[in-house]
Amino acid sequence: MRRSGTTWDAEPFAAWARRWEIVLGDGYVRPGWIPLLDRLARDLVALGWDRQVAQIKQKVGRLCFYAPRAPGPAGEAFWGRIEVAARESRRTCELCSDPGRPGRPGGDEHGWIQTLCPPCFEMADASERARAAELERELAEDEARLQAEEDELAKSDPEYRAYLEEFVYPHRLGRRSK
Ligand SMILES: [Zn+2]
Repeated sequence: MRRSGTTWDAEPFAAWARRWEIVLGDGYVRPGWIPLLDRLARDLVALGWDRQVAQIKQKVGRLCFYAPRAPGPAGEAFWGRIEVAARESRRTCELCSDPGRPGRPGGDEHGWIQTLCPPCFEMADASERARAAELERELAEDEARLQAEEDELAKSDPEYRAYLEEFVYPHRLGRRSK
């Protein structure tokens, strides 16, 4: 299967909505689920679907497809078919359509649950971890900048310095001693 370089390529989903003349409230799923959505749309249209859907999205690695109403006589088949697609989504890579399973790229601390095949998981895991490391680096830089500003102010303001020494410095992590 084709692996798209961009994780958030919105065009395949937009093209899907145009292809089936969907009246969509809002939403988006990634390219790997488009074949699944094509089969779903085909079957729902055959059941008399009016092509209206309030929202389509991914939640905890699963397709959420909120149609406002079922075509009268086909109610049970209609909702059942949507449920089948949701179950299928939990076994289908969101990026490339290969067999996948839900996981948390980036680890429990940083990641959100996505259904991915092993190679796409590895790719997403590496980029989530790099992003988390970058964020931590930025926070540390901000903290260092703030501390330097405080120290500079304290030089010309003894009261402020006393305040810092009593309330702030004891709580600084890894503070270098002066
Ligand atoms: Zn994949």
